[in-house]
Amino acid sequence: MSEGRDVEISEVGLRDGLQNTDKVMPTEAKKGWISAEAAAGVGEIEVCSFVPPKLFPQFLDAGEIVAHATTIPGLAVAVLVPNLKGAERAIAAGAHKLTFTISVSRSHSLANVRREPGEQLEEFRRIVEYCRTVPAGRRPILSVGLSTVFGCTIEGPVKESDVCRLAAALIEAGGDDLSLADTVGYANPAQVKRVFKAVRREIGAKLSAAHFHNTRGLGLANVVAALEVDVRAFDSSLGGLGGCPFAPGASGNVVTEDLVFLLESLGLRTGIDLDQLIAVRRILSESLPGEQLYGHLALAGAPKGFAPARCDA
Ligand code: ZN
Repeated sequence: MSEGRDVEISEVGLRDGLQNTDKVMPTEAKKGWISAEAAAGVGEIEVCSFVPPKLFPQFLDAGEIVAHATTIPGLAVAVLVPNLKGAERAIAAGAHKLTFTISVSRSHSLANVRREPGEQLEEFRRIVEYCRTVPAGRRPILSVGLSTVFGCTIEGPVKESDVCRLAAALIEAGGDDLSLADTVGYANPAQVKRVFKAVRREIGAKLSAAHFHNTRGLGLANVVAALEVDVRAFDSSLGGLGGCPFAPGASGNVVTEDLVFLLESLGLRTGIDLDQLIAVRRILSESLPGEQLYGHLALAGAPKGFAPARCDA
């Protein structure tokens, strides 16, 4: 945990958000978004995905985006890598943290990446092996995102034992840390507490973060539940940008602005300036015209007399 923060927020709008928008955001707007959020105090940004550029025009500029983000002092630059090829490109570009995702649900995995979870695990092993050949100074953190942990739109309920088994196998394979994602917005607070506790029993402190969607309105309730079982890192996206092609009606990730407001209200320091953060929404509305942005705080403003969490409190 960096100094002056009680909770780490990772902005994922540029990856999770943009992979689900119809329009391609201009490269300059992406750079402006990254710089403005970093200036507002966001410590980690997942800036792009190293998916095959031919299939995903949104991420054609991935190398240039990483090159820009890594010039910002103190910013942890995270990227998504779908396979070994993506990991090679991401490391060449200089990313600090690589996230590889695996669906616990077999059907979601097949629909999403045309591979079974077991095949994904094998691909992850290849990435680990490759990373070990990279000189220590350039070697990124290798993070695993388990998706469809709390349920799947194709399979329905997902077994906690499957989640635990896969989490243990990924850490065993060489993952530095692991997050749990409610990819389709099925999670509820009781389930969140139960599953996080169960996975922590398997992999201890390597269980690092939570990734919630607000599809059914429970995003922030799930954050509070995760806080109660000592989770201290969350993914979110500005304006709640994002969704999932396999989750009809999905309204996207937990909204970064609302998440910061919640945490600061609870006395937990995020290191993020709320007014500065809300101002960044303008970049999104200007560069993605017609795209729906979410968020209560941006609409209503902070309560009169609201004071963020203080380190001397
Ligand atoms: Zn997501």
